[in-house]
Amino acid sequence: MTADGLQLIVMGPPGSGKGTQSVALATDIGAMHISTGDLFRYHERSATSLGDQIQDFMKKGDLVPDDITIAMLKDKIESLPDSMGYILDGFPRTLNQAISFDKMLTAGNSKLDLVICIDVPERQLENRLLRRIVCAECSLVYGSHVGGEYDEYCKNCGGKLQKRVDDSDKEVIGHRLKKYMDLSLPIIDHYQAHGILHRIDGTGPVIEVTTAIKRVLASTFKGTLSFNY
Ligand code: ADP
Ligand code: ZN
Repeated sequence: MTADGLQLIVMGPPGSGKGTQSVALATDIGAMHISTGDLFRYHERSATSLGDQIQDFMKKGDLVPDDITIAMLKDKIESLPDSMGYILDGFPRTLNQAISFDKMLTAGNSKLDLVICIDVPERQLENRLLRRIVCAECSLVYGSHVGGEYDEYCKNCGGKLQKRVDDSDKEVIGHRLKKYMDLSLPIIDHYQAHGILHRIDGTGPVIEVTTAIKRVLASTFKGTLSFNY
C-alpha cells in the first residue's frame, strides 16, 4: 500500500533493528529509505571529500558534526521527487539536528508525520551488534552469525557480507550506546511534545516488531494506509 509523501522517522539505539524495520516499511509503503549511516558509509567507500572528513568520527563511533550531517541530508531530500515520502533512519541523533530539521521542513511548508522509537534494553544491544553482519554494497543487515561463520555473499545483491568496523570492537560499541543513551532523551521529549512519537517494543522477533509498527501506522493514517498483516 503506498502513501504519497509521508515523512517518517524511525529512531532507536544501535542494534535496535531500526535499519531492518525502516527498509521493510519503506518497501511496503513506497517511500524512500534514507539512512544517514549508509550515506556516510557510501561516501567512505567512494573516497569522496565528504568521506575523508567523516571517516575518523565513524571509526571511533563518534557522531559526525551536525552541520555536515544536516547538509548531507538536506541534499538527499532535495534530490527526491516532490511527492516521494521517506523514512529517516539514524537521524536525528542530537536535539540540535531535530530542531534544524523542523526548521528546514517548516521553511518548505512541510512537516513530519510520525516518529517511531524502537526500544530495546541496553544489555541486549551489545550482543546484537557483535553478531551483526551487513552487506558492503546494499547495507542489508544479517541478524546473527555463530562462531564467526556466515555466508560470503548477500542474497539481495550479491555483494560481499562483512562485519562493520564499528561493530567489531566492544569499546566502540559501548561508546555508541552511551552516546545514544545520553542524547536520545531530549529528542524523544521533543517529538513527544509535538504529539507525533510512538514507542515500540523492539525485543521480539523482527516480524512482530514490523507488525507492531504497521499497526501504529494503520491507526495513525486511517483511510490512507492499510496493511495485510
Ligand atoms: P548504528 O545505529 O548501528 O550506530 P548507523 O549506520 O545509523 O549505525 O550510524 C553509524 C555511524 O554513522 C554513527 O556511529 C555516526 O558516526 C554516523 N552517523 C550516522 N547518522 C548520524 C547522525 N544523524 N549524526 C551524526 N553522525 C551520524
Ligand atoms: Zn546486498
